[in-house]
Amino acid sequence: MQEYLEQLNDAQLAPVLQKDGAMIVIAGAGSGKTRVLTYRIAYLMSQGVDSFSILALTFTNKAAREMKKRISQIVGSSEAKNLWMGTFHSVFAKILRFEAERLGYPSNFTIYDTQDSQSVIRATIKEMQLDKDIYKYKQVYSRISSYKNSLITVKAYFANPELMEADAMAKMPRLGDIYKNYVDRCFKAGAMDFDDLLLKTNELLTRFPDVLAKYQNRFRYILVDEYQDTNHSQYLIVRALSDRFQNICVVGDDAQSIYAFRGANINNILNFQKDYEDVRVYRLEQNYRSTKNIVNAANSIIEKNKNRLDKVVWTANDEGNKIKVNRTMTDGDEGRFVASSIFETMMNHQLKYDDFAILYRTNAQSRAMEDALRKKDIPYRIYGGLSFYQRKEIKDVIAYLRLILNPKDEEALKRVINYPARGIGDTTLEKLIVAANHYNRPVFEVMQNLDKIDLKVNSGTKTKLQDFVTMIQSFQVLNQNYNAFEIAEHVTKKTGLLTELKKDGTPEGIARIENLEELLNGMRDFVEEQKELADATGALSEFLEDVALATDMDNDKGDDNKVALMTVHLAKGLEFPYVYIVGMEEDLFPSAMSMNTRAELEEERRLFYVAITRAEKQAFLTYAQTRYRWGKLIDAEPSRFIEEIDDSYLEYLTPITEHKYKPLIDSDIFDDIDKSKLRLRKPSAGTPPKGPTEAQLQKLRRLKPVTSSTDKNFSAEDANLSVGSMVEHVRFGIGKIVKIEGVGADTKAEINFENGGLKKLLLRFAKLSVI
Ligand code: ATP
Ligand code: MG
Repeated sequence: MQEYLEQLNDAQLAPVLQKDGAMIVIAGAGSGKTRVLTYRIAYLMSQGVDSFSILALTFTNKAAREMKKRISQIVGSSEAKNLWMGTFHSVFAKILRFEAERLGYPSNFTIYDTQDSQSVIRATIKEMQLDKDIYKYKQVYSRISSYKNSLITVKAYFANPELMEADAMAKMPRLGDIYKNYVDRCFKAGAMDFDDLLLKTNELLTRFPDVLAKYQNRFRYILVDEYQDTNHSQYLIVRALSDRFQNICVVGDDAQSIYAFRGANINNILNFQKDYEDVRVYRLEQNYRSTKNIVNAANSIIEKNKNRLDKVVWTANDEGNKIKVNRTMTDGDEGRFVASSIFETMMNHQLKYDDFAILYRTNAQSRAMEDALRKKDIPYRIYGGLSFYQRKEIKDVIAYLRLILNPKDEEALKRVINYPARGIGDTTLEKLIVAANHYNRPVFEVMQNLDKIDLKVNSGTKTKLQDFVTMIQSFQVLNQNYNAFEIAEHVTKKTGLLTELKKDGTPEGIARIENLEELLNGMRDFVEEQKELADATGALSEFLEDVALATDMDNDKGDDNKVALMTVHLAKGLEFPYVYIVGMEEDLFPSAMSMNTRAELEEERRLFYVAITRAEKQAFLTYAQTRYRWGKLIDAEPSRFIEEIDDSYLEYLTPITEHKYKPLIDSDIFDDIDKSKLRLRKPSAGTPPKGPTEAQLQKLRRLKPVTSSTDKNFSAEDANLSVGSMVEHVRFGIGKIVKIEGVGADTKAEINFENGGLKKLLLRFAKLSVI
């Protein structure tokens, strides 16, 4: 037996060695599903399967890269580079490039990101003169997106009275028209949005049997990780492609299905056995990732879900520490607790920063964590924030690059036609768009034909427009002979982008120039890497493809020694020695928006299961008693999920707060309960939040409060405050008084807060304590 196969247990070995046929590996977290996929690919290659004929679909491109690296190590050659591996979106974007013309798209079609799509929808709503408070563009976008992911095209939409009625009921009777205009507009711009990458792939495979046959023959072996989170559109693609050879291996865990809100369909995993002939089902039971305490705690949580497949997960790893539960007064304190704990643990155990992760339910929670980490000089990295490629200065360069490849790209054109400023104002742009709509041609084409139409702009403006066209065309010529890096470097200089940024001498301006340099460095590396591949050259088109689908997770080269901060959703598939799950509060985790039905609550519980199973050595659960949400201080209660964990796996660092809500839902009787009663506690949204009690505030202030809101005779001397005093504010944190003015009840202090900057506060009301 090859040496690497010894790194698998018997249960893992079976699906690796079954070369042909349909198989599903259903197993709990940390049991080696991803490892099975990786080794299976290596094994197939060792059995003579051509690497070009293996297709592996992963949850992130980063996961794909890591898998490729591991496979290269195992097979000891660079063959792994030829594997078709990546997310659904990136793999099928590549295929669509080859086949785009069949669908009437240019092969250099642009991929619109969410921002582009939303901008098109906003413009469409405006042009249709609809009320933007009713037709909220983000909401419209997400509805259209869910239609696309269910393969409901515009035509299918209008053929379905139920859908139209549902939108009318939601006060959006014109939704279908917006959908149609949006689709037409993207098509005219030669652009596909993210959802199109799946929708159009489906269209391609159903409309053109020869194309289907071609890819069925090419991808003789198909593998899918995280199968539980595939949506309908992805499911159909996999099914179609694997139909001929039926060499399909999917791995997943129904207990980790957490993307239902984005259309993921857990039935895909439950029904897999019906979809193929002769399906082998494999189960893995041994967890290699976590301690006994973590594995058992996780098991005790997921048992509460009714809708699940029965699974055993055990581990031979050490008992480990119990899961530590900590309560703090405020979210700020919670941040400070986590930062101190990370610092201490690191010092005590000689660890690195990247051994730690902080996971939260919502992105907004990162702020308190960041503040605390910064104060302690702990380096961190936030995942899921703005990706590098979404920064303004980077998007500007990218927009020029997009235009070079696809001058029809209206969003890119709008972005840079007058940036850097070249005297083409909004009015001119509007005239161009009106003309483009009138002739049903792309805006750029209108600009190329100014002599033939009457645009009603003065001759100066006309020259400017023509100059812009000439500039883009000159870039297009260069693009025939130069690589992505060379083109980008030329563009930043010739368009005046670099000069524009250099004019701005502020620290932000300098940071932007640095980002631009970073972009160019990255492009240079990219070109070098591409040149090593059999089917790539480092051309601009390849770079843009990569960028369009990049997330900041993909940028992570894994060489940063930093604490990782991310939402639980993003943490799927990852592992860290020490994990802090913060904000373990009712209405936050589980989220207030997900407690209306059992299905929603169960999804939240699966999310918690995902969170806790990321930890290898130690998990912490923290919660605050008061928290700022929607700009208000609200009371919080500990999450029911803490109570759901068997007590023997928990260690309370602080006494647990008594729950005010009814005890747990018993899953067995769940079915008999009226669903409307499932909301155990009113969500805070909509109900006026209760302020903190005076007792809580006293504690918050830590020291005796220096002010009292009723004391009309208050003065600064009474409070022992003077310029230079250091004070602490409940919300703004620590600050220094820089000025005091007024007398008695009107005394105001100007305070420079570390967190909040300069603030002028009426001392009578300000909740300050002297430190
Ligand atoms: P998740 O459900 O979270 O995606 P998974 O089932 O994909 O988890 P892996 O990530 O493949 O699990 O494996 C979890 C950890 O256990 C990894 O660090 C992996 O290297 C290790 N591991 C898996 N199988 C073995 C094994 N047979 N021997 C040693 N370590 C293993
Ligand atoms: Mg995995």
